[in-house]
Formats: sequence, C-alpha cells, structure tokens
Amino acid sequence: MAMSDLPDDVNPATLLVHGGTRRSQFEETSEAIFLTSGYVYGSAEAAEAAFANDGSRFVYSRFRNPTVAMFEDRLAQYEGYPRCFATASGMAAVHAAVIGLLKAGDRLVASRALFGSCLYIVSDIARRFGIESVIIDGTKPEEWEKALSVPTDLVFLETPSNPCLDVVDLEHVVPLAHKAGARVVVDNVFATPVLQKPNRFGVDVVVYSATKHIDGQGRCLGGAILCDDTVAALLAPYLRHTGPAMSPFNAWTLLKGLETLELRVKAQQAAALKVATFLEGHPAVARVLYAGLDSHPQRALLRRQMAGGSNLICFHLKPAGGDAKAAAFATLNALRIIKISNNLGDSKSLATHPATTTHQRLTVEEKETLGIGPGTIRLSVGLEDPDDLIADLKRGLDGLV
Ligand SMILES: *Cc1c(COP(=O)(O)O)cnc(C)c1O
Repeated sequence: MAMSDLPDDVNPATLLVHGGTRRSQFEETSEAIFLTSGYVYGSAEAAEAAFANDGSRFVYSRFRNPTVAMFEDRLAQYEGYPRCFATASGMAAVHAAVIGLLKAGDRLVASRALFGSCLYIVSDIARRFGIESVIIDGTKPEEWEKALSVPTDLVFLETPSNPCLDVVDLEHVVPLAHKAGARVVVDNVFATPVLQKPNRFGVDVVVYSATKHIDGQGRCLGGAILCDDTVAALLAPYLRHTGPAMSPFNAWTLLKGLETLELRVKAQQAAALKVATFLEGHPAVARVLYAGLDSHPQRALLRRQMAGGSNLICFHLKPAGGDAKAAAFATLNALRIIKISNNLGDSKSLATHPATTTHQRLTVEEKETLGIGPGTIRLSVGLEDPDDLIADLKRGLDGLV
C-alpha cells in the first residue's frame, strides 16, 4: 500500500482530509475498509520475517489493521503527537492510558470533575490494584500544588469537565506534574481536537472518546490515545495483549468523521454561543455555564487555553414552584427537536438531566460538589438551525415563568 505523499507543511484542516491515507493497488479516492482479522504470507520465510516484528507488515488486526492505521495516523498528524492507538471505545482508551502506565505502589493524582466511568477507573479500579489515588478539585491551583508536592507517577484530568464545564489550568498543572515526576494524561473530549491542543502545554498523553465529536453523527463507538514514542513503547504491549482494538469498520466511519470535524465543531460552536446567550437572558434560567460566554467564571483561563467554547452548555433552572427537578423535566418534555439523550457531540442536539441519568448513582453531596443540582441540564448543540433550537427550548422555558 502506498502512503499519500502530502507536503510536510500543510495546515491542520488539510491533514484532516488527507493525513494517513494509504491507497491500495486500485488507487481508490475514498479510503478502503479492510474488514480482515488476519493477513497471509507468500512463504514461510515471509511469515518468519513478519514475526521478527519490525512493524512494517500487518500480521493480525488486534495489533494493527490498514484502515485503523489510517485513522490513527490522521489523528496523530492533526494532534501533533508522533503516535496514536485507536481503541474500541473511549473508556478502553482511558483504561489503557491510566492502568497501562501504572503498577501497584504508584501514585496517581486526578481531578474530581470527570466523566463517570473515568472517575470509576481512578477511584475504584486503580485502588483495587494497589495504586494510591488522590482525587482533588482540579479548579483549585493550591490543591494541585499540595497533591503534587510529593513524587507522583501519573496525573489524569478532564478539561472542560462533564457536565458543568470546570476548567483545569494546563499551563499551571503540567509543569508541576513533571516536577513531581508524573506523566500527564488529559481527556480532551469536551474541548474537541479542534479547540484545545494539549501538546501546546506539554501534555504527555491525550485520550479521546471518538464516539463523540470525531464520529459526530452518533454511529459508532471508538477511542484514541495520543502520545510520544516512549509512552507508545510502554502501551503497545499492554494494548496488543489485552485487545481493546477498534473495528476496521468503525475506524473507517471515524476516518470519514475526521474529514468534517473542523467544519462541524465550528458550526456547532457558533450555534452554541447563540443558544447560550438566549438561555442566559431567559427568566426561568438561574445560571448558564458555557466556555464561550464572558460570564464563565474561568473566562480568562479559557481564553488562554481554548480556541472557542465548544458545543456543550450546562444550565441551571430556577425552582419553578419550588421544584427545580420538575422545571427541568418540563423543559425536557416540551422539546420537539432536541432529543433527550446522554450522548454528546452529535449532529443532533441532545439534552441530558445529569442528576437522574449519567450521575444518578452519586449522593446528593457528591452531585453538589460537581455542581449538579435537580435543575441542571446539559445540552450538546448539534447542526440544526440555532433559531429552531432556541424556539424548542423557549417552548418549555416560557411555561415556567
Ligand atoms: C463519552 C466520554 C468518555 C467515554 O467514551 P466512550 O466512547 O463512551 O467509551 C470518556 N470521557 C468523556 C469526557 C466522555 O464524554
């Protein structure tokens, strides 16, 4: 297979369309789907050479597959990391990046405002295997300073976080972590690959749920780990032998998702700003958290760290008639365009009530720590006309005042 011969100095948007392309002898325009688990060898000698493992030959799709490799190379080139490993889901990526880099007795520091399953990995799973796991409020610089004042092996954080869009200061945390001897793993899903470039801040490992904006059309699960060659050497055996490999079909879908990623995220972000501005002006809404609004409490930090607000909005309703949950449910139940769903990053706008769904199992105190109340709604703005989305929200909200 021939790798495409892109000039070295093309811009990121061009890499999203052409990066990593390998053409077969048929010289197809669109990337081929190699739905194959294995590969054949012309001779016993060729098989022996392949297993000498210089990496140039595909031998088994749990290790590498041509379609998956195209996805990995395209994302790696766009993100500016030398290596990418695609995984079957975002959680497979987070699990491998955290547990695959640690061993019993190591020390892990994580910020508390995490996607639920990520919190489970750093609290329950890590501790079960004898890893000391310290979980802090990632928005407070002094908590990072204290937690990283002793030797540490890994830092895991998400910024902005799910669902209330807390922001962690990468410029502050990354050097502290490195001084403590730790590698930094960042879950960059909410920021998207378009709007936040963790490698600018020296982040060692970036993880994605490709299920979200990278697919962007709600079709398949996928994940990715981006890193340098040193981390790749540690992770490669872990991934090869534990097998969280991405399916070639999903890799193809996600490869096509990358081609339109910038267009979609930019359109969604423009629409989200309009919707957030509307929400902020509505009398039924107590508070709006959106990374693109001047009212975000960490606005200055956001300006330094992100190129825009992304498509996720968190808003808190006033307790109409004393009942914030009823206000939230009435708003959700009046929607006719925006769908009630716990997914995000889709071309369809999706609304979630975290307190009763994604964060249902947390105690009231745990929810409060994360900023989740009975009147909290998380909105993932899609690709519909923003005026239709505003009208859709207005239907329910107007009934509350
Ligand atoms: C969805 C998500 C994950 C998990 O990804 P899956 O593809 O669902 O396994 C991890 N982190 C964040 C921030 C997410 O939004």
